[in-house]
Amino acid sequence: MKQHDLHALLDQAHQYANEYIDHIDQRPVYPDEEALKALNDFEQAMPEEGTDPAEALKLLHQSGSPTTVAQTGGRYFGFVNGGIHPPALAAKWLADTWDQNAALRVMSPITAKLEDLCERWLVDLFKLPEGTAAGFVSGTSMSLMCGIAAGRNQLLERQDWDVVSQGLFGAPAAKVVLGEQAHSAVFKALSFIGLGRDRVALAPCDNQGRIIPEELPELDEHTLLILSAGNVNSGSFDPMQELCERSRKAGAWIHVDGAFGLWAAASPNTYPLYQGAELADSWSVDAHKTLNAPYDCGVILCKDRSALISALQASGAYLEWSEHRDGMLYTPEMSRRARAIELWMTLKTMGKDGVAELIDQLCLRAKQFAEGLEQNGFRILNAVNFNQVLVACENDSVTEATLAAIQQSGECWCGGSKWLGESVIRVSVCSHVTTDEDVEISIGAFLKARKSV
Ligand SMILES: *Cc1c(COP(=O)(O)O)cnc(C)c1O
Repeated sequence: MKQHDLHALLDQAHQYANEYIDHIDQRPVYPDEEALKALNDFEQAMPEEGTDPAEALKLLHQSGSPTTVAQTGGRYFGFVNGGIHPPALAAKWLADTWDQNAALRVMSPITAKLEDLCERWLVDLFKLPEGTAAGFVSGTSMSLMCGIAAGRNQLLERQDWDVVSQGLFGAPAAKVVLGEQAHSAVFKALSFIGLGRDRVALAPCDNQGRIIPEELPELDEHTLLILSAGNVNSGSFDPMQELCERSRKAGAWIHVDGAFGLWAAASPNTYPLYQGAELADSWSVDAHKTLNAPYDCGVILCKDRSALISALQASGAYLEWSEHRDGMLYTPEMSRRARAIELWMTLKTMGKDGVAELIDQLCLRAKQFAEGLEQNGFRILNAVNFNQVLVACENDSVTEATLAAIQQSGECWCGGSKWLGESVIRVSVCSHVTTDEDVEISIGAFLKARKSV
């Protein structure tokens, strides 16, 4: 393809993107059945001959844009997803044209530099011990695997067992303790890393999903303790200070799953939820959730740099290590996209004040949501201390029917979940674009939906 053709294609993509951005608030938040029919436009057997790129791009826009979920608008509250910070999107466009491989510094000096900076900035933002290492991975699922692998190896090394060379065949036991409300990705990581999802000791949780300290199983220097900074339903935090102090005394390895909640560290108003988590050994966090960086942008942070490197390191004669940072030392992947570029742009353009403001704003809108719904007869099942709101009607069948009607409305979108055995509508306020007006419109959609059932 010639250079001028590439310019034309990028211009075409730019025009489509602007059209998309301009109409995001006028379209249904979730595509209706009629719009979803456009997915059939893509159906075909693998073509024998290539299609003209301008034609294919046009198809993508005309039939693809209307079948997206309007997650970049202000009224998407599904899962814990997050929007996109505009400067990060612009940086991503530029970085995509660079097409850098983040594996080694020799492959991309700029990426190595920005990874290095992001590492230092995040260590500062989360108030972690100096020298804490960061690896830039796809998301918290991967980050959990890295942190748990590093912890597992260190715990077994204390029993003179080298997991890297000997694997887990015949290895001494390690104890794993976590809250019964831990995220499913934690259980997945445990099974993947060979620790077994069903042989963990589960700590009972209170009605907010927090570990009850008095009922924590016993910890020792062979224990991996996994704590939750941000319950995926209620947004609650395990009592960090108390559990981390106890665990440190016992000599356990502490990993904190802070996929969306770790950012609480950035605002003085939410810092008390996080306080104490600095005492852990490793931390997982997503920049693509609360921080509103683009997908996929997860981070593994590990206090003991060499523990992380030794758990993840590959070697090969063709690898050229530099004195500077080589990103692949800190990640399972070798070839990797340069996600630190957008992360750097996000942190650089927000600054500490901007991150704090973002967190405060998300929390404020969640409170507004909860108060507005409560005044109108909905029940709120969680203490709204962060960005999550759990909503229920008089019984499960009304709640479920109301949720279905909300999802159909196109005015806003929320998912459902179960909380303490009860069906709930789960509201996650995660986007920087959500205004108080968006919340009011969404409360209106809840009311209409409940009336209709
Ligand atoms: C989202 C989430 C995960 C999984 O993270 P991904 O980035 O989706 O892989 C794990 N734990 C918690 C608490 C989460 O919210």
